[in-house]
Amino acid sequence: MISLTARRYDTQQPVRLRIDRGVIQTLDAIPDQGDLPDDLPWLAPGLIDLQVNGYDGISFNSPSLSPDQVRQVSLAMDAHGVTRYCPTVTTAPWEVLAHAMTTIAHAIRTLPEVADRVLGIHLEGPYLCSDDGPRGAHPAAHIRPPDWDHFQRLQHLADGQIRIVTLAPEYDKVPEFIRRAVGQGVLVAIGHTNANSQQIRAAVDAGARLSTHLGNGAHRQLPRHPNYIWDQLAEDRLVASLIVDGHHLPPAVVKSFLRAKGPTRCILISDITSMAGKPPGKYESANSGEIEILEDGRMVLAGQRHLLAGAALPITAGVANVLRYTEYDLQVAVDLASVGPAHLIGTEPVRLQVGVPADLTLLRLSTADPVASIHVVATFVKGCLVSGRIPG
Ligand SMILES: [Zn+2]
Repeated sequence: MISLTARRYDTQQPVRLRIDRGVIQTLDAIPDQGDLPDDLPWLAPGLIDLQVNGYDGISFNSPSLSPDQVRQVSLAMDAHGVTRYCPTVTTAPWEVLAHAMTTIAHAIRTLPEVADRVLGIHLEGPYLCSDDGPRGAHPAAHIRPPDWDHFQRLQHLADGQIRIVTLAPEYDKVPEFIRRAVGQGVLVAIGHTNANSQQIRAAVDAGARLSTHLGNGAHRQLPRHPNYIWDQLAEDRLVASLIVDGHHLPPAVVKSFLRAKGPTRCILISDITSMAGKPPGKYESANSGEIEILEDGRMVLAGQRHLLAGAALPITAGVANVLRYTEYDLQVAVDLASVGPAHLIGTEPVRLQVGVPADLTLLRLSTADPVASIHVVATFVKGCLVSGRIPG
């Protein structure tokens, strides 16, 4: 049995919590009479990250990915308060995609730590736009139009574990592909695209529900209007995932996107790569050649500091940045990385109430105003303390 005292992230009410047999057994409000410690941690649902490409030298796109490496990445998420996530596999030759699908599916089947944490696979590509700009770092040679048989072969190898597919909807017959994927319970996302207004509308009519990292994986210059950013921003049936690491989107864009869509139509993702978790320095990356992690967490192509080579900061950085860049409070910022993604992918969000599975995190905000960082004090998966410690 675990018991602790914390402050609810949503109501700010101090509470005494008891966890036993994997679920919240009691959650009692404590009157705040000024005798509680100032640094009482915030009690929040475990965070959910729908886009994780790897961590600490392990890439889900590695041709030698092993089930144990899937386990290592899954456990590495604990320290960041992430209790559920989607291993994300990006555009690659067939053999690499097939290997990733079989390996991740095998890990989910055989390793309980993986099964507890993985919500399903996010397949980002290979059905993307091949133009420089929207293509991002996806290798042009392996980009291809959406192909239902190709996708079905991957889904079969993945034991049906592909839960999200990000695609560019400007190809022929995409609405049919989307309808079939949605029929299988797959969340279809628009991303790395050059689609026009009609193509975006057709994709949404067919069931696409997410814009993958809106504002990134895009041309450096766009016609002022119409363009695919406005079209997706204005489409209320699309939720936008945002990389709010402080580098991928400027603060004004984050604030404007959040206001335009509203916080219930946005979610945070980290989109971290295998270089995340490494200290600042230069590294050799399989996809992008030599890359450098700078002191501020920015990951760039070595010697070209203006060219981002991917994301390296965990989703907690996004939660802190939402507090810095916008007028939204901690509840909204945390929900963008927990309740929102849960709803989107169709899993039950963790509510702070008696009887729910204890996938929880304890957070401390830096005392700087605006909040500059979030520190994860402890993480619980299914009621077990998996990272950090319970403050005494
Ligand atoms: Zn991407």
